[in-house]
Amino acid sequence: MTEPGHAILFEPVRLGPVTAPNRFYAVPHATGHGWAQPGGAIALRAMKAEGGWGTVAVQMSEIGPDSDMANHPMERIWDDRDIARHAAQVEAIKIRGSLAAIELAHGGMRARNLTTGLPVSGPSGLPVLRPEVPCQARAMDLADIKAFRASHRAAARRAIDAGYDIIYVYAAHDLSILSHFLSPNTNFRTDQYGGTFRNRLRLLREVVEDTLDAAAGERAVALRFSVAEPEKPEGLAIDGEGRDVVEALAELPDLWDVNISGWSSDSATARFADEGFQLPFTDFVKSVTTKPVVGVGRFTSPDFMASLIRNGRLDLVGGARPSIADPFLPKKIREGRSDEIRECIGCNVCVSMDSYGLPVRCTQNPTVSEEWRRGWHPESPPISRGRRSHLVIGAGPAGLECARVLLAAGDKVTVADSAAEAGGRIAKEARLPGLATWRRVRDYRIRYIESSADAELYLRSHMAAEDIADFGADAVVLATGAKWRGDGVGSTNFRTMNLGRRSVYTPDDILDGRIPEMAGGESVVYDDDHFYIASAIAEALRMAGQNVTYATPLPQISAWTENTLEQSRIIERLSSIGVELMPNAKLESGLSLANRLTGEYSEIGSRNLVFVGARIPVDGLKRELDLTVGASRVRLAGDCLVPGIIQAAVYSGHQVARSILEGIPNDGFKREFIQSFVPAA
Ligand code: ADP
Ligand code: SF4
Repeated sequence: MTEPGHAILFEPVRLGPVTAPNRFYAVPHATGHGWAQPGGAIALRAMKAEGGWGTVAVQMSEIGPDSDMANHPMERIWDDRDIARHAAQVEAIKIRGSLAAIELAHGGMRARNLTTGLPVSGPSGLPVLRPEVPCQARAMDLADIKAFRASHRAAARRAIDAGYDIIYVYAAHDLSILSHFLSPNTNFRTDQYGGTFRNRLRLLREVVEDTLDAAAGERAVALRFSVAEPEKPEGLAIDGEGRDVVEALAELPDLWDVNISGWSSDSATARFADEGFQLPFTDFVKSVTTKPVVGVGRFTSPDFMASLIRNGRLDLVGGARPSIADPFLPKKIREGRSDEIRECIGCNVCVSMDSYGLPVRCTQNPTVSEEWRRGWHPESPPISRGRRSHLVIGAGPAGLECARVLLAAGDKVTVADSAAEAGGRIAKEARLPGLATWRRVRDYRIRYIESSADAELYLRSHMAAEDIADFGADAVVLATGAKWRGDGVGSTNFRTMNLGRRSVYTPDDILDGRIPEMAGGESVVYDDDHFYIASAIAEALRMAGQNVTYATPLPQISAWTENTLEQSRIIERLSSIGVELMPNAKLESGLSLANRLTGEYSEIGSRNLVFVGARIPVDGLKRELDLTVGASRVRLAGDCLVPGIIQAAVYSGHQVARSILEGIPNDGFKREFIQSFVPAA
């Protein structure tokens, strides 16, 4: 039963000529599957429709070969040969009762055309908007603009033929040629498409009108527009042209899909932005237009979502990451099961996969991108082959996910952990600044386990090999985690080092509260891990009153966080609180840091050294149990199999549970092949 306060979320919404069945709107987002992996892409989106998202949108879809975004695997609707694939996608979405939307796009000065070899084009002859790519855009002449409009219109026609209900015009994220024509930072033209606001807006207006014309009142036309660019000093602002655009085109599209740009603002992580963070920018839009408005902001709380509608801030609740973390979020709210929502934690592991050009992965939802190739469903694990009884050692992310899946399948599970609190590394890391939402990984699973009559959870229960052997479980899963090394071994150094006789602290020490002189002390946090933990520890120590230096052998601070769109924010945060940053600083025996560029040495001296390097699996039990319980009944999951990020531990726990249930290793999957290849005779 839907809670009365949430019923408003299930009202239909008219979007011009079509009607969304409810207010849950899965906005366009990159899936990493792209045009070359339609099986994966279609199944991922179909899952959202099955989970109750009333509208499911397809990611950025290149309208032609002159907008080639490779290496990012976008969708393509270049010509009629793409229609069949899109039609299959539309059918998979609509058969489940949702509307299907497509985001037509031309990347303009963001397209690289690396695979097509065509010239990149834009409003002005300038370098492309990726300084690391050595190529320029060609300034379009009036004939080029005409051709672009015709190309967009033809793509709209194909999208309509494929059956889409909503056709997007895309002018967001600085990723669209329409944004590039609009912005005085990229448009230096002197003709009717440049100069004044009216002139710079002209192409966007024309393309919306062209698309409305192609839609002929039978399909809705959405305009996706970033109303503000907070990262750019001279970017769009809601007291400037961001608002002017909405006012100028207010009643033109059937739907406004509004957000902020660039992508690191739009997809801000929980470390830097709370749920609803975009509303201060986007909620003016409803006061300017009578057309429906959808916005995003990592919404996972149904009360908050309902209040947004009730208070007239949005008409539809947009979700990209929340719909990845839980494709069944709407259905759970509709059925009064809000406490079962697998809330997005705002970690951007999903985004990092896109940065790599790979299918999306999610810390909370291990089944994403596995819908087609492995047949994994986020809510329905395989049915147990009998009421068997399993023992899981370790209540970290891997152990908890493994236990949850085994229970959901109908087996009995005992979970034992030596710690006083469940959650393993999650429980500890979530205490670091900005990482509190990470507890959701534990809480979602613990809630499930605690509500199951077939589960027993024992904390403060250290398990030795003989305890486990005595237990007589059908399957034993060791999810005992990993320990941080304190011997100098990290990503850039594989040999142990003599770090002197003084104490060296590891992240485990800090997370367990073992570091002396918290206030007034001095520490060097040495990052040879390169993800989030070293910067978060540096921040925590600084906030506790220490003088802190963050040093790393790489030229970049927290190098991998560039992929989660956090790097510049981490640098800004650490600098603003007075953490000294030392890139290119290699730790050497004898406790000095050698600057890799200048060769200068700086002594660590009497300061604490927090060494953040590699980890060692805690897997000793496996060797003992193989002899007593038998190797085939003992499985490793998560960090004790191979240390990795939390997403990898959850995934591993899930996979091990399925392999127990299915009685097979579960290491095979389907592959997608390009059908048009015919080998020469
Ligand atoms: P993962 O990320 O792979 O889930 P974690 O390090 O988060 O790993 O969790 C491992 C958990 O296993 C920790 O909570 C730890 O207390 C527990 N653990 C490790 N060894 C034992 C053991 N012998 N008996 C019980 N619990 C254990
Ligand atoms: Fe949310 Fe992290 Fe999953 Fe992305 S990977 S959807 S940010 S939980």
